[in-house]
Amino acid sequence: MQNTRTCKSCGAQSTRQEDFSNLSLNLAPGGSVQQMLQDYLMETELDFHCECGGNKSGQQSTFATLPKVLMLHLKRFQFTPFLQLEKLSDPIDLYRELLVTSAQADGWYSLASVISHLGSGGNEGHYVSDGMHPDTQLDDPADLWLAFNDTKVTESTGAAVCKQRQRTAYVLFYQRRVREQDYQPDTRL
Ligand SMILES: [Zn+2]
Repeated sequence: MQNTRTCKSCGAQSTRQEDFSNLSLNLAPGGSVQQMLQDYLMETELDFHCECGGNKSGQQSTFATLPKVLMLHLKRFQFTPFLQLEKLSDPIDLYRELLVTSAQADGWYSLASVISHLGSGGNEGHYVSDGMHPDTQLDDPADLWLAFNDTKVTESTGAAVCKQRQRTAYVLFYQRRVREQDYQPDTRL
């Protein structure tokens, strides 16, 4: 990611690149992942003393490069004012497609896997995972997915996962769509 700080008074900029293995998004109850990612990329204001004498700067993150697999962590756990860990079970809109924009190019991504946290508390619960079947192509109408729950593996579909995991989705894995002519199923990861 590239972080840019811009002085609100004189416009002086400084940029810094930082590596991430995943991005942590604030949960937007009822919102889509696309919206939460947009919120993450919005400019925020911070106090910074610039040489010009100004003390307000804007800070903004943009994608410097687009990953093959984008891992998004939704902040479903937070501390209360009394330092109790609580779980947010608000539903989100889960869609299969995600558009990621960067300075160089835009990338379309498809949901490939979801890790869900089941349980209402912050200190308890159970993790399950849904993943696209390895033999399924991104546009396969059969849309076969597998649900992993400890040793129990059951068949599912992407459409069912998006509906079923709205309140529990915790980590999302999006796979970048490649152009048809470059498509190599064995090397797509
Ligand atoms: Zn300035």
